[in-house]
Amino acid sequence: MRVSMWHGRDEFTVEEAPDPSPGPEDLVVEVDTVGICGTDVHITRGLFPSTPPAVLGHEFSGKIVAVGSDVDASRVGESVVCDITTHCFECEECKDGRWNRCERARPSSGAYAEFALVPAASAVVVPQGLALEAAALTEPASCCLSGIEMCNVQQGDTVAVIGGGAMGLFTMAFAKLAGAGTTILSDPIPERRAMAKQLGADIVHDPAEGDLADAVADATGGRGVHLAAEAVGSPELVRKALDLTRPRGTLLLIGVSPRGTRLPINLYEFQWRETVIRGAFGRGTAFARTPDALAELDLENFITHRYPLSGVAEGIAATGQGIGVKTAIKPQLPE
Ligand SMILES: [Zn+2]
Ligand SMILES: [Zn+2]
Repeated sequence: MRVSMWHGRDEFTVEEAPDPSPGPEDLVVEVDTVGICGTDVHITRGLFPSTPPAVLGHEFSGKIVAVGSDVDASRVGESVVCDITTHCFECEECKDGRWNRCERARPSSGAYAEFALVPAASAVVVPQGLALEAAALTEPASCCLSGIEMCNVQQGDTVAVIGGGAMGLFTMAFAKLAGAGTTILSDPIPERRAMAKQLGADIVHDPAEGDLADAVADATGGRGVHLAAEAVGSPELVRKALDLTRPRGTLLLIGVSPRGTRLPINLYEFQWRETVIRGAFGRGTAFARTPDALAELDLENFITHRYPLSGVAEGIAATGQGIGVKTAIKPQLPE
């Protein structure tokens, strides 16, 4: 098979590699779509640990083409979306609901490749109503679903989201599915604001056209929102998001801030307003529930850019520059 091999920094080459052969509890998946993740950008910039040479790519969907001896052979042909790792349900991390940090995790192989090797327990069937390509959004979306579930959104709650990349968009959309009332999403890129509208945002805000705090005050009668999410990873925007919350509101940190940065908030305000600050990092227990939630959304054109295997470096660079909404690799596309 062909794979896109990462050789460090932003160097990728398409190479031949042996076809994967499944162990007893594994599947081989013909990869349909792999989303490029902010983590891939961080890896190529040396900001996230990974050792070359390696096949990267972890947000993927595809079709099962072979199964190991202990797996039901009728699964061949299933459309699936694949988790990065398995979880055991039994270790301390799993018991705390942090399945993504399971101490006995078994990883799926890198998916910037024609085929991937996946533990059978990691492959979730794509439901009716969710396209195989859009199913590749499950992994990033599951982190947002997990974050929203931890925030206990109540019917009619007002929500503001700063940042309309994939994480901000899904955070807003899942808040809406959880019963939120008025939702406001702010992003400077018109394509992303349009996608926010498509996914149910009531108000979209362009930071070039006035202060978000004013828009939130208008929308909430000056009270502020129940939930403000920061989905960019900017300490300055975290501070801004806190100012949007009403007393007893929640500040959700879903963006990845630079290592070593400190909470840039006014502690007097924080204590006076009785704010809850919630971090959201991983998929928690939400991965297998996410495809059904995604099937509720209109994801037409969510993936804005597609590249064949030889386009991994270019796709990662485009993602790093914040171009479009979501960029994906399609390993079956001809070069
Ligand atoms: Zn990811
Ligand atoms: Zn575990």
